[in-house]
Amino acid sequence: MKRNINQILKIANYLNPEEKNLIKKAFQFAQEAHAGQKRLSGEPYIQHSLHTAYYLTQMKADASTLAAALLHDVCEVTDTKLSKVRQSFGSQIAQLVDGVTKLGKVRLKGQAAEGDDAPYIQNQIENLRKMFLAMAADLRVVLIRLVDRLHNMQTLYALPKEKARRIARETLEIYAPLAHRLGIGELKGQLEDLAFPWVLPKEYKWTKSLVGDKFLERDRYIKKVIKVLEKELKKAKIPAQIHGRAKHLFSLYKKLLKYNKDITKIYDLVAARIIVGTVEECYQVLGLIHAMWKPLPGRIKDYIAMPKPNGYRSLHTTVFCLEGKIAEIQIRTRQMHDEAEYGIAAHFYYSHKKTAKALPSHLSWVKELAERQREFGAGIDFIKTLKIDIFSDRIFVFTPKGDVKDLPEGATPVDFAYAIHSEVGDTCCGAKVNGKMVSIDSKLNSGDMVEIVTSKKASGPKRDWLKFVKTSLARSRIRRNLREKGDNKP
Ligand code: MN
Repeated sequence: MKRNINQILKIANYLNPEEKNLIKKAFQFAQEAHAGQKRLSGEPYIQHSLHTAYYLTQMKADASTLAAALLHDVCEVTDTKLSKVRQSFGSQIAQLVDGVTKLGKVRLKGQAAEGDDAPYIQNQIENLRKMFLAMAADLRVVLIRLVDRLHNMQTLYALPKEKARRIARETLEIYAPLAHRLGIGELKGQLEDLAFPWVLPKEYKWTKSLVGDKFLERDRYIKKVIKVLEKELKKAKIPAQIHGRAKHLFSLYKKLLKYNKDITKIYDLVAARIIVGTVEECYQVLGLIHAMWKPLPGRIKDYIAMPKPNGYRSLHTTVFCLEGKIAEIQIRTRQMHDEAEYGIAAHFYYSHKKTAKALPSHLSWVKELAERQREFGAGIDFIKTLKIDIFSDRIFVFTPKGDVKDLPEGATPVDFAYAIHSEVGDTCCGAKVNGKMVSIDSKLNSGDMVEIVTSKKASGPKRDWLKFVKTSLARSRIRRNLREKGDNKP
């Protein structure tokens, strides 16, 4: 599909005329710089820049991000100097372009021997570290790089097979999880589905064959459900948009593994999604649905009252629906919907901080990690826990006052104690989970209410604790305390 600048300007109706002019100027600059260049797919190079900017426009990214997206490769693949970009567009946009270029500079050094993963992993670590520092400096750099990767994945067929596979693997292991942690669900789903056949070809074929024409079948069924819903909501005078949403293939594959490969247990192959105006209407609609169709026990999820750690908000319910079949229905407001699809970008848009670098509270972990990295350098230990902090699934756990702490899966009461305060961690001598005493190395689960027992007489963290803590925060604080006591072992 070909893109042009007018399509972008048309969707960018949230920008003012001056901002639109900036984008036109960036396009002209990029077009001149890339003149005559072609992608391996045979397309003119500028198509890549346009695709990147186009997707970001759909995400309602701000004008500087869009200009930088159009310019993102001029320093990397042409002779254009960064100083020229700065002269024409100012230091902010130049900084974004520079950030994106630097993020892309990580390349495998030397040739990997057959089956030798070491250079690949080394490269991944370097990638991670750079992404992460860029994120802490300005999230928009990472946003551009993620969308740039999306278009590269869409044109992967043009690359030599071995290279394509390496890029696909990196996408699945780093880019998609990062998009997930930033709450950009739509991008995450697309990146995973594009990488899936390259990285896990057998599993991909298996999933496809297992699904067969079930997608079609379910889609037809959900359309009937939607018709009924539309009628009922009209009667109740609740304005709403309702559509069907097919599950992404890779996320289906992961779910199948969880459910013993039994596809009949997957109720959200195609789900109905209802978008309404207000939070009150979300609950109203939920009530309406439950009056019509009985909910499956344990399947009502209120992510509005209790958002997921990545900020996702929505109501989910699974009901015994038309023809006695089971269907999943999701209810949310327009803002929740945009934030679920476009994550951090939509968040900036809605908080009217269009050029803000400020992180919303559910992303404060980015800043915290950056500070710790500055404190301890990029040692192997940091990298190890960084991987757990960012890429493992998260649980959320409550303080006795009802505050939520977001921790990686497998976190213990000691991780929780340090997440509250260093002092709580250092004086921790026991823990109660849901009112019962547990050992401080037990694994916490989402929804647990955790109370830490502290004692001023506690002798402080033990070296042993390093064996079971999961977060880099706990690890670094324990180390610090041990050092202060003169224990300098690594
Ligand atoms: Mn690019």
